[in-house]
Amino acid sequence: MTSDLNDSDLIPVSLHGNDVEPLPAAAVSDGEKSTCPPGEGESQAGEKAPAAAAAGTLHAPGDEEAPGEPDRNQPPDHSADCSSDVKGDRSIALQQKDGAQNSDKEDTGSGSGSGDRCADHESQLDWYCSTEDRLICSHCAATGTCKSHTATPVFKKAADMRNKLVDACEKLQLRAAGVERFVEETLLVKKQAALGSAAAARETLVQRFNLIREACESEEQRLLEVVHGEEELTQQAILTQRVHWAESLKHISAARGHLVQMLTERDDLQLVVLNKPQPLVEDAHSILEPQDSGKLNFNSGCVQSPLLLGMWATAALVCRAAPADLTFNDRTVSPLLGLSEDGRTLRFLPKRARQPCEYSPERFDKWPNALAGRSFSSGTHSWLVGVRGSGAFKLGVSSGRIERKGQGSEARLGYNPHSWVLSHYEGDFSFSHAGRHSSLSLLRGPATIGVLLDCQAGQLLFFDPESCSVLYSHHASFTESLYPAFAVADSSITLLSH
Ligand SMILES: [Zn+2]
Ligand SMILES: [Zn+2]
Repeated sequence: MTSDLNDSDLIPVSLHGNDVEPLPAAAVSDGEKSTCPPGEGESQAGEKAPAAAAAGTLHAPGDEEAPGEPDRNQPPDHSADCSSDVKGDRSIALQQKDGAQNSDKEDTGSGSGSGDRCADHESQLDWYCSTEDRLICSHCAATGTCKSHTATPVFKKAADMRNKLVDACEKLQLRAAGVERFVEETLLVKKQAALGSAAAARETLVQRFNLIREACESEEQRLLEVVHGEEELTQQAILTQRVHWAESLKHISAARGHLVQMLTERDDLQLVVLNKPQPLVEDAHSILEPQDSGKLNFNSGCVQSPLLLGMWATAALVCRAAPADLTFNDRTVSPLLGLSEDGRTLRFLPKRARQPCEYSPERFDKWPNALAGRSFSSGTHSWLVGVRGSGAFKLGVSSGRIERKGQGSEARLGYNPHSWVLSHYEGDFSFSHAGRHSSLSLLRGPATIGVLLDCQAGQLLFFDPESCSVLYSHHASFTESLYPAFAVADSSITLLSH
């Protein structure tokens, strides 16, 4: 007979933690067993139960009938066969059963009755065969069918299982403690941290916007003062001119009066005699023709502010909810280009993909150009163009008067007085108007270009929204309604919407 007690005996049952709930009495009594040094092993643990049984202290009064009545429900012959060798083991079995009863009444309650008896030996089923997973009697275990099986006294098996339950309870307890710790400590800390972080983020925002507001106000003040100074200078120049010309007018008037007097008061002889230079008249003649001067004009260029320009473009193209909602005007699109279904993407077509287009007087027939569907003559307008894929494009504005037919400069964007464009070609960026080109040195090609048009101030600005940097700014006096204008000679460009 082998015993599987070693496993259960080696499981440490630790119930010392204050945070661990009290466990059933049976589990605690099992816990006492664990005070044995683990090294004592199977044989000592196995001897314990018989030793306790021999002391005869575990007899329960209610079970006294058991030894006398094993034959009650069994055939008499079988009982006689077994009685001689069962006697000694019987008491052990009973005491072991008592131990089990003390620790857990439900177990013994369900286990009582005739079903508890071994069919072969009529003894109580107080052993467990783990090879067959069934209850057996001590005779089965010692000499019967389970002699070569792994058999354990039921109370040891139960203790083993209780130990496992205790173990599982402890694990759950630990897990519960972990969850509680997470809820009470970690979540609390997180909550505090979130409060702190939000407060810090708020403070940073407020500080920065205050700084921006202050910077804006002081820059506004500075620029207004610059304007005021320039206005004063101009007014002063005008006043000086007024004084000067009033004086001159007096000289001229005096000279003229003198001449009129000569005409009216002198006779022929006096006139002829007095025919010599008249100083007064000489003076008047020496007065120069009035001429316009730059000093008499207000210099709009006095307001130079990269800060204002950057913030203005950022506000218009990045912060504002929606730039102009544009599409390309299909009737202007060159036959070299394809227009997407939604009218927002313009694609340069390879030769084989080109198809004859319906004639339109608005259509560019030779240059790969297109205009947007609407034009602007007042106010400030902005739009965004995705240019990531294209290595050759132009974008800007054009008056409706630009030539549409032929391959001359009149129809080529940036090569005539009617169009202003930023162009990207062979890796270089430049601004072009009326055939004059200003090269731009950009560190990298933007993926998106924002265009900002202020009709009233006469300003056209190109902007990289990703880096919030001004690519180019151009001043002009726009007298006509302007269409957003585009050209693409490689891949595609797209009008972006928000
Ligand atoms: Zn048996
Ligand atoms: Zn067996």
